[in-house]
Amino acid sequence: MAKTERLFYTDCYLRDFEARLLAAEPDARGFRVYLDRTAFYPETGGQPADRGTLSGIPVLEVIEEGEAIAHVVGQKPDAAEIVGRIDWARRFDHMQQHTGQHLLSGAFERMGNYKTVSFHLGAEISTLDLDSDRLGRRQIEEAEELANQVVFENREVRIFFKSADEAGQLDLRKPTLREGDVRLVEVPDFDLSACGGTHVNRTGAVGLVLVRKFERMKGVTRVEFLCGNRALKAARSDFALLTESARLFSGALENVPALIGKRAEELRTDLRAREKLVKRVAEYEARELWSAAPEKKGRKIVRQVFAAEDHDEAKMLAHAVAHLPGAVAFIGVKGKPAALFFAQSAGGAADMGSILKQTVAQVGGKGGGARDFAQGGGFDEARLEEALSVAEGLL
Ligand SMILES: [Zn+2]
Repeated sequence: MAKTERLFYTDCYLRDFEARLLAAEPDARGFRVYLDRTAFYPETGGQPADRGTLSGIPVLEVIEEGEAIAHVVGQKPDAAEIVGRIDWARRFDHMQQHTGQHLLSGAFERMGNYKTVSFHLGAEISTLDLDSDRLGRRQIEEAEELANQVVFENREVRIFFKSADEAGQLDLRKPTLREGDVRLVEVPDFDLSACGGTHVNRTGAVGLVLVRKFERMKGVTRVEFLCGNRALKAARSDFALLTESARLFSGALENVPALIGKRAEELRTDLRAREKLVKRVAEYEARELWSAAPEKKGRKIVRQVFAAEDHDEAKMLAHAVAHLPGAVAFIGVKGKPAALFFAQSAGGAADMGSILKQTVAQVGGKGGGARDFAQGGGFDEARLEEALSVAEGLL
């Protein structure tokens, strides 16, 4: 397909343009439309494609095909004279994120010669990967401050073209592999890169470069950042979350971390106290059941079924019964699936592990254990009483 003139190369602020329809090829989603010139940026270099309309028809995707640019549309335009219109809010957002990336990459380069190995501009967040996993919070903040310093100075973002040979002589942030004319993007005395993307024309339009988080991976540090309007939205939503948290804790915003810490400590204390109580209740309950339990071959048989939500208490009761003399506990717990805890006083004549295995062999499920304590489950709760009878029969 014939070369498409890229209007965004020289004017990133062009929102409406006129062009001539060269061809329309069938595509799974309709047609691939080719024009003599376009302001639509195709998906490339980590930056997503533009959206908008061609003569009123929505553009679904913009694809780079070598020198040509294909616009994917649902229907074919009627006339050869095309009026293109870029979805400006989306494009300007991309320009802010992309220019912010140049500033952040430039800052990392200046600070510690950290090279940007890749960049991704996402629908929500953007990331860049640095060629080192030795960066910490302090270096990240330093680069963030330096990038914002350049934003506040509102420097010009200059675009110009050089031949590949001439460009090779320049101090580019990253060497270019392009042939022919190379498009260069410069923030004077700060950053010079070969780039085909769309940028704001002065650094002030980036608004703010906000690093959200970073992650060290094998040989790489991935830095998540937001610029411009996205940074504003993030700051707003962070503040709303903090305000809501403070409201839930009935405290001031700045006290939220301390309040969470205090509440967590209280919760831990309460849990410990509760565990102690449950154990004591189990001991009392065990003694009561043991006293009333029928005797079989000189052993007190405690047989009991618990509700599903009392799973932990059931296990504790089995242990508590086994602490009493000459006792055997056959404890079942309802639920989907059901559970079993078998226990006997230390040195008892039976083998709980073996009884449990034989029981689940009959009612389904699985389990096992040692001589004095065994557990299992994984069968239908409707067979719980049957399971306990089988176990008792095996004594
Ligand atoms: Zn760029």
